[in-house]
Amino acid sequence: MSTIKLHDKYFKPYISKEKIEQTVQRMVKEIAKDCKDETPIFIGILNGCFIYVADFIRLYPKNCEVSFVKLASYNGLESTGKVNELVGVNVDLTDRTVIILEDIIDTGNTLQKIYDIFKNQKVKSLKIATLFFKPDVFTKALPIDYIGLSIPDEFIIGYGLDYNDLGRNLDSIYKITTHKMTNIVLFGPPGAGKGTQATKLKEKYNLVHISTGDVFRFNIKNETELGKLAKSYMDKGDLVPDEVTIKMLEDEVEKNPNAKGFIFDGFPRTIDQAKALDAFLNEKGEIINGMVALEVPEDLLVERLLERGKTSGRPDDQDEDKIRNRFNEYNTKTAVLKDYYDNQNKYFGANGVGSIDDITERLSTIIDSL
Ligand code: AMP
Repeated sequence: MSTIKLHDKYFKPYISKEKIEQTVQRMVKEIAKDCKDETPIFIGILNGCFIYVADFIRLYPKNCEVSFVKLASYNGLESTGKVNELVGVNVDLTDRTVIILEDIIDTGNTLQKIYDIFKNQKVKSLKIATLFFKPDVFTKALPIDYIGLSIPDEFIIGYGLDYNDLGRNLDSIYKITTHKMTNIVLFGPPGAGKGTQATKLKEKYNLVHISTGDVFRFNIKNETELGKLAKSYMDKGDLVPDEVTIKMLEDEVEKNPNAKGFIFDGFPRTIDQAKALDAFLNEKGEIINGMVALEVPEDLLVERLLERGKTSGRPDDQDEDKIRNRFNEYNTKTAVLKDYYDNQNKYFGANGVGSIDDITERLSTIIDSL
């Protein structure tokens, strides 16, 4: 399970489906015990309750009846304060044991309306059973008989609850999360201009640039353990093994606890690296906002790399065989990442041929839209 985006907002996993199941089971048990020999009529408050009611009813061990009313008090994320009755109860409730099943009670405005609607019915008893309850924002002096889970005042979705109509189908609960960071994967084959563009973009967006190639080269120059390990792979144009690279990348991120975000350049280069990066960021409540890719034809890339090799001092830039091997690594292991991010609607390609400033402009247009 990972962070998801609905409309313009992000939501992260919060309450598991197992936890919900246990909670509903506990409520059913308690209510069935209290109802003794009565046949209660459960009334669900639509729309949010439909999954809760369906699960609840199937677990209820004795005879019972079910009905629904439809009220609305939400408009987007904020409770509007006024509640409108849309569809009322059309069953005779005289002398019945009525138990209202609510998915969530927060301010209590909906609950107040329920009490108002039912006070004129000559019911035998009226009880409220809510799956979720937000005690911090509840403002009414009204009884709530059964509470599934008390939660802090955070906007939640899933298991029937929505954000502007989306999210009801999720089988567990997610809560809203605000990302503090902008994290970009700058993508493209060797020689596409990632380093050049990253230098420009990090200034413009105040981001930390992590080039795994640069970090490896720094370690090689300083003859560290990591450098010694990476050198043999790099000199041939092979990829350094994932365990080594992932650990190194995580260390680099941890060195910048106050970063507004990162430009990842040369990472991820394999699906396993991409998955590790997602999991790592997810733990911090952050995500990759998008993969921004420089698209350049291969012949032009070889030309650019050989030209760079004249001054860069990089052994992997000076030999066409090594360059071809890097393309081979790219095409067999790295290019598939396009699909990985595309499947999450996070792949954005840009033409990487043209003047440096024009290309920066193209990339900026993409980043501004993320
Ligand atoms: P670059 O400077 O990005 O072209 O990277 C130069 C070399 O460093 C690559 O050919 C690999 O040997 C190694 N390298 C850089 N990033 C990674 C990575 N994410 N995974 C594995 N090897 C990498």
